[in-house]
Amino acid sequence: MPAEQTDTLILRVFPWSETSLIVNLYSRDFGKLAAVAKGARRPKSPFEAALDLLSVCRVVFIAKSGDVLDILTEAKLQKRFRAGTRNLLRLYAGYYVAELLDRLTDKGDRQPEIYDLAVATLAALEEPNFELRCIVLRYELQMFRLIGQLPSWRKCAQCGNEADDVEWLTFSSLSGGVLCDACRIGARDVLRLPRSVRDLYERFSLADWQSMELESYPSNHRAASRGVVQHYLTVMLDRRLQMHSYLEELGR
Ligand SMILES: [Zn+2]
Repeated sequence: MPAEQTDTLILRVFPWSETSLIVNLYSRDFGKLAAVAKGARRPKSPFEAALDLLSVCRVVFIAKSGDVLDILTEAKLQKRFRAGTRNLLRLYAGYYVAELLDRLTDKGDRQPEIYDLAVATLAALEEPNFELRCIVLRYELQMFRLIGQLPSWRKCAQCGNEADDVEWLTFSSLSGGVLCDACRIGARDVLRLPRSVRDLYERFSLADWQSMELESYPSNHRAASRGVVQHYLTVMLDRRLQMHSYLEELGR
């Protein structure tokens, strides 16, 4: 197998042996990778200090087919994640970027835009002028869009009719969107979604994420706006994400 080169984001690093590490990465050109970095724990290794959580690196690796780990042969650090050194909540948000990326993608899916979004999100976390709630919401909704799981914000997720334009909409995580008046009756496990939050979600769901304004976030309905996205993710993945409890502050 020939060696491949790509830009990657480090999602997880753990020891494999006295001298080696296993590294989970999300790469721009090959999607998610799991590779062994032999000798990475030695003082002088070809990986220098590149293999840190949330670092952006240019790597060289040898791809292995099937369930066998790829082999990482080189890693050059391009950017270290520094937002966490100043602010704990931003550090947690960085971990959340990695957790969501890992959970929402499968090995073999190649989506350069997902890589670009994740790297841009980590960079945004280092910008103190950007509101953390905006950064996280944009990341979540854009991930939904890129994996084809964006909820329906206007049309009823069950029957496809336009949902009624009321102050409080009904959102069903199971159906994947808002429900109309008729479908709402008898629907289980639904949430109330303020119309203003629906409008906010809609804005953050647009494909043009690079030019989104991240400076200010509405002060009302913050609990509802966190709650609906978290519930939707929990139902989609059939598990509660680890970082959600660390980010509860965002709902206040
Ligand atoms: Zn309906």
